[in-house]
Amino acid sequence: MGMAKVWVVPEIQDQKLKKISLEMINLARRLGEVEAFLIGDGVSALAAELGNYGVSKVIVAEQADLKTYTTAKYARVLAEGIKREQPEIVLIGNTATGLDLAPRVAQRVGAGQISDVIDYVEGNFIRPIYAGKAFQKVSPAAYPLIVTVRPNVFPVAEATGGTAVVEKAEVSLTSDDLRVLVREVVRQVSSRPELTEADIIVSGGRAMKSGENFRILEELADVLGAAVGASRAAVDAGWRPHQDQVGQTGKTVSPTLYIAAGISGAIQHLAGMSGSKVIVAINKDPEANIFKVADYGIVGDLFEVIPLLTAECKRLRN
Ligand code: FAD
Repeated sequence: MGMAKVWVVPEIQDQKLKKISLEMINLARRLGEVEAFLIGDGVSALAAELGNYGVSKVIVAEQADLKTYTTAKYARVLAEGIKREQPEIVLIGNTATGLDLAPRVAQRVGAGQISDVIDYVEGNFIRPIYAGKAFQKVSPAAYPLIVTVRPNVFPVAEATGGTAVVEKAEVSLTSDDLRVLVREVVRQVSSRPELTEADIIVSGGRAMKSGENFRILEELADVLGAAVGASRAAVDAGWRPHQDQVGQTGKTVSPTLYIAAGISGAIQHLAGMSGSKVIVAINKDPEANIFKVADYGIVGDLFEVIPLLTAECKRLRN
């Protein structure tokens, strides 16, 4: 294929581009000519920033009704945009909203979808399968193609100092598209980074024994500027909210550093974190499965090890 037209559908929060948007641009630049399809309200100011990262054209679908994400509205606007402009490849974040949006759009435009892409090698998209036990190479067979991109895997695109041509997209929502209304967005107030974007994650498992005991992990996390995660056992016990769960039925994370405390390393947990660059495991049981994927293993009682680690990190920081 010649110079493919590649679309990035940026994710926006508080009128800012989320990190995944710049990661998708990085991948898009390897695939062809990069354009962005921006959906929201009052988002056209972001076009200049996208241009600066190498996006040549930004198509803006802007309207008060598009301020918050709902499936029907965004799927309609994006699908119509794709039909009109015919990009070959459309990159969408493999995130909560992206996973909701991508398959619906793929169905409407008759596109194939490649999900949870973590690399692109010699014309093939690479994605983990069987909970991360194997990797599948997928070479595009037909266009358009929808690709969802795992967050925190591709580096953010470097600035090019370029500028983008800006075009307005027609938006024609029907009353059907507006049946679901978002009345209010309630956000958990936290000084810690969001789990899927965090560079460092400290996670606790069943061995934490209680919600209160997670305080020792929070202290370590705060010294490291890390997010706090949990295994399903800890979430099922009610010690942490489900949004903190890492794994097959929780979030997929790929931080630079993942510290697993009192987590046995079940395959369903590994599915969510084995892509981390460096894994440190703390477990009493030297035979624990988690040590098979760990780069550094500490065999010991986490209630002794974690406070020592926190103290040492504090000392190094000062
Ligand atoms: P355990 O397996 O009980 O491990 C606790 C570990 O702590 C043990 O290794 C023990 O040696 C160690 N330990 C005990 N005390 C201490 C101490 N004082 N100091 C240090 N170490 C100590 N799990 C997920 O995590 N995420 C998912 O998304 C997920 N999805 C699932 C989906 C399905 C369909 C199914 C069937 C299961 C799923 N699971 C998931 C559950 C998974 O199979 C495991 O049951 C779960 O991960 C176990 O959690 P854990 O490691 O915290 O607990």
